[in-house]
Amino acid sequence: MTTEPEFPSKKRLFLGLLILTFAIVLVVINILGWVGTVGLRQLHPLLPLVAQALVGIMFAGISIIMVILVLTVSLGKELPFGRKLRGLMIKVFLPVMVVIGRLFGISRENIKRSFIEINNQLILSRHLRLPPEKILILLPHCLQLADCQQKITNNIENCKQCGRCDIKDLLELAHKYGTRIAVATGGTLARKIVKDYRPRLIIAVACERDLTSGIHDTYPLPVYGILNQRPNGPCWNTKVDIQRVEEAIRTFSQR
Ligand code: SF4
Repeated sequence: MTTEPEFPSKKRLFLGLLILTFAIVLVVINILGWVGTVGLRQLHPLLPLVAQALVGIMFAGISIIMVILVLTVSLGKELPFGRKLRGLMIKVFLPVMVVIGRLFGISRENIKRSFIEINNQLILSRHLRLPPEKILILLPHCLQLADCQQKITNNIENCKQCGRCDIKDLLELAHKYGTRIAVATGGTLARKIVKDYRPRLIIAVACERDLTSGIHDTYPLPVYGILNQRPNGPCWNTKVDIQRVEEAIRTFSQR
């Protein structure tokens, strides 16, 4: 499957931030361990040893997690605990990384973009092959031409396929491969669609913010994210690289 040309730098940004987060967490653990040791000595002479052992276990645990995460992303192969690590990355590391990245002047958008790419890498490393009807293509409403009167959020099949926006080509792709396809106006409707369709994988098109929150909200369901293009500014007559969507369908379909 092809990737965007700027992908290596996105990957480096995420891995760099991850390693920085890792280093900061380890320093904090060590400082807390040292402070605790000083206080614990007053209570019992053996307690500092227990505290040091606990710090050592945490240190080893976090080191192993980091090595597996970096190797999974670098090698593109699913290693032990790969799925759990995606959860840990989504729930724990991403919020911490956003804070640390901001301290170093990296925009929230850039961090989220690199997170989406790494999330995609972790999903690709699982080499999933699914019946097409178990794949849901989830689209944002802003892909529809703003002055189109068709009510496609109720049912995307209401699209007349006039070709003035990308919905036509996306609908054709869903028909061609037999995948499910739907349009959501926001997180609440997206969650309802996922609940109704019960897919095993989502190929989601959206902006950085919506993709990140979608990946977070639907975990452990795998969400392969494709960023939309915004030639007219955010949320207005957006577009998507149709070829990337088709490549994603072909990658995950059992054909
Ligand atoms: S392809 Fe035409 S009919 Fe379909 S959503 Fe776009 S503008 Fe509307």
